[in-house]
Amino acid sequence: MVEIKRNKRPVLVWMNLAEDFQEDPARVPEVVRRLAGAGVTDLCPFAYPPGGRVVYQRSRLMHRARQVDLLGPLVETAHRLGVRVHYVLLPFTHLGEVSLAGLPDPVLVPYLNDQFEKKEYYCVSDPASLVRCLAVLDEVRRDYGVDGFQLDSIRDRGAVLVCQCPRCWKRVEDFYGGRVAPPEEMAGHKSFRVWYAASRKEYVTALVRAVHETAAGLGAEVNMAARSWSGGGAFAEGQDWPDWVRLGLMEMVAPMTYHPADFETFTVEVERQLRLAPAGFQNLWPAIGINPGRGSMTGAMFRRQLDWLVERGVSGLSIFQASGLSDELLAILADRTG
Ligand SMILES: [Zn+2]
Repeated sequence: MVEIKRNKRPVLVWMNLAEDFQEDPARVPEVVRRLAGAGVTDLCPFAYPPGGRVVYQRSRLMHRARQVDLLGPLVETAHRLGVRVHYVLLPFTHLGEVSLAGLPDPVLVPYLNDQFEKKEYYCVSDPASLVRCLAVLDEVRRDYGVDGFQLDSIRDRGAVLVCQCPRCWKRVEDFYGGRVAPPEEMAGHKSFRVWYAASRKEYVTALVRAVHETAAGLGAEVNMAARSWSGGGAFAEGQDWPDWVRLGLMEMVAPMTYHPADFETFTVEVERQLRLAPAGFQNLWPAIGINPGRGSMTGAMFRRQLDWLVERGVSGLSIFQASGLSDELLAILADRTG
């Protein structure tokens, strides 16, 4: 009989509080207990509301709508069980969807995503984005006592497309010394894309640095989810996590994968991320993607990816996300961590 290596490493799981628990807040402590019972050591709650309904009440910044407090019970239950909580910060998108009384609104910019579907995001080079991000961080740390923060989607969206907000477009015109071709045309030139990627990296890194400094001042850690390799272009979007690790700005990095039915591609992507990590960096926690929205994962595939990560000797592992953890998958996780 083949001996299974037991996982004694940290296991992080994301929880979409806003979407999964608004209708049934009493389930929060119960789900946290089940996860902890299966060996989960770290939780990353998504607490901002997609529809604008507020799911935390303790912060003066978040009182636009009356709503139940989901974050409080999560943190209290988790801490009683020795589970750490990293609050998810999404500076480019959702931070703008809650009402932050008295804070400036960042510029809302339409952009075309990979499928050329028009969406909107907040320009991260806008100082208002940082002001809001730090305000949320400060209040959530003080009012909820979370252990740390996770920067999610920490990049400037759309690998080759140019942010067309007045600030970014002026930066382009200033660099080129006058009026330039339309963004779509500019994005077709390699030299432009190289310069633009460097410029992006500079302001995204500035935001990461400010978040890290503020969090450190409050005794909290900062980690991040790194973009899945399959999407490509993370560096072109200003997400250079190996550099942030070298600069001491990232305590832990969770590289994402979403391959519920493709074991080979899963291992190839994780290996690439492991190679990118600076020598000696001990906190790369690759993610197994079991997001129900991207196809279902069988118990056999979950077990296979889990066992491979443990065999591979990773320092921790992550699972995206809690709602995808069926009783069967939780039992497999519990078996591997017990
Ligand atoms: Zn912009």
